[in-house]
Amino acid sequence: MYEVVVIGAGYGGLAIAALLARRGHRVLVCEQSKVLGGRARSDEHDGFILDWGLHVNRFGDAGPAAEVLRRLGERIEWAGEGKAERSLVQFNGRLYPRPDSVGGYLTTPMLSWPDRLRLVAVLLRALRARPEDWYAVTWAHFVRRTTSSPIVLKLCQLFNYAIYAPDIEVTSAGEVIYFVQRALKAPAVTAQPLGGTGQIIHKLERVICRTNEIRLGCKVDRILLDRGRAVGVLAGGEEITAQAVVFTPPVQHLFRLVPDEALPAEFWEYAANLEPTACIAYDFGLREPVPDLNGSVINLDGAFLMGSFPSNRDPSLAPEGMQLASFLNAVAARDVTEKPVVDAETMRLRRWIAETFPGFFDRVLWERRLVIPLVDGVHLRVGQAYPDRHPIASPHIRGLFFVGDTVAAPACSADIAFNAALEAEELIEKYLQGKEP
Ligand SMILES: Cc1cc2nc3c(=O)[nH]c(=O)nc-3n(C[C@H](O)[C@H](O)[C@H](O)COP(=O)(O)OP(=O)(O)OC[C@H]3O[C@@H](n4cnc5c(N)ncnc54)[C@H](O)[C@@H]3O)c2cc1C
Repeated sequence: MYEVVVIGAGYGGLAIAALLARRGHRVLVCEQSKVLGGRARSDEHDGFILDWGLHVNRFGDAGPAAEVLRRLGERIEWAGEGKAERSLVQFNGRLYPRPDSVGGYLTTPMLSWPDRLRLVAVLLRALRARPEDWYAVTWAHFVRRTTSSPIVLKLCQLFNYAIYAPDIEVTSAGEVIYFVQRALKAPAVTAQPLGGTGQIIHKLERVICRTNEIRLGCKVDRILLDRGRAVGVLAGGEEITAQAVVFTPPVQHLFRLVPDEALPAEFWEYAANLEPTACIAYDFGLREPVPDLNGSVINLDGAFLMGSFPSNRDPSLAPEGMQLASFLNAVAARDVTEKPVVDAETMRLRRWIAETFPGFFDRVLWERRLVIPLVDGVHLRVGQAYPDRHPIASPHIRGLFFVGDTVAAPACSADIAFNAALEAEELIEKYLQGKEP
């Protein structure tokens, strides 16, 4: 009998399993696929190391992934540590350096002097605001309360990129405020794990496998319940008993794993209607380098397009003299199954790359396109913000915990999953000691 069965070996599942294993608990991780990492897995292609689309960690050593590793006695090594990040923004048809501080916004040539002051006023208000007062209000509304300048509103979409929430008119202001307050204090806004996401995954795997087990190709078909309590899982016909179960895939994947009547109708309705983010992602192996940009490039002129050259920060990702480029176009989740939309958006991304980096396509050795219906489990729009998300400890089934990027933990994207793991560690510990949360 295990103390805890963890369903899923993505960032969230590996993080919570490693934290519990470190405390000496008997943990089993069941992962349906043959590889670790979930949406943060990485692949090797002709000597290039490719993350599953463009992947960075917000705030480097000050972020929650680093905190998980610190609790485990490990440290994430970052690519290009100590080097300043240089990113570009396309704005009104031109490329500009991306500002990364209040001072940077005060001097940016993207805006006139009056608009710079208006933008800084928005930022100062965001710095003084309490995120919890603004989760139910849109970021566009928050900006418009300070200024009616359309150009400032346009530039404020920089923060939508930062939290990967494509639509300023629906994005929760509380989510942006939470980000801004950390970004302006953190040593780095984004950091790239040396060697890609695989470094984090393998460090977590190592901690788990010192004393515990990860089963790959192990799909959980059902969560076993006994009198309102989770008591294990059914996987491949085998009943695996445990004192607690942690479900880490997006909560919309819980359907069929527990009987409908075990959870209230509102829960199922909430899960069925959760809107994720989606994208078309492109990776390119380039036979020779195009730009020396070590940060990202983003487009504020219309569609939500971004890219980076990860091997500029971390040469180990590409064979010597070559370059890895990763780009994405955020599309609405409902559109990824519409072939004409996907084709048109693919063309739009390719055109943008060609215009932004002349000569790019002459240097392409190979390319990989992924149409991804689920980037982040939740689009951080009003109604899906931190307080609206599902609690970590199920209020309906005792011993069932949720970790992953759709639950009520702060931040965005993978940071939700890491923060959820940090909170779940304490909650599960108490549960195992008989002090139920
Ligand atoms: C292209 C792309 C780019 C991204 N870029 C960034 C970025 O730059 N920064 C960032 O912070 N985040 C980024 N993200 C988001 C980030 O990858 C996710 O937030 C994070 O990986 C989620 O981890 P998770 O553990 O919550 O879920 P997942 O990674 O989805 O893990 C869940 C696991 O559960 C397994 N599973 C599902 N059902 C079962 C079952 N019944 N039995 C057993 N196993 C099961 C799945 O196979 C999966 O491995 C990006 C995502 C994508 C797709």
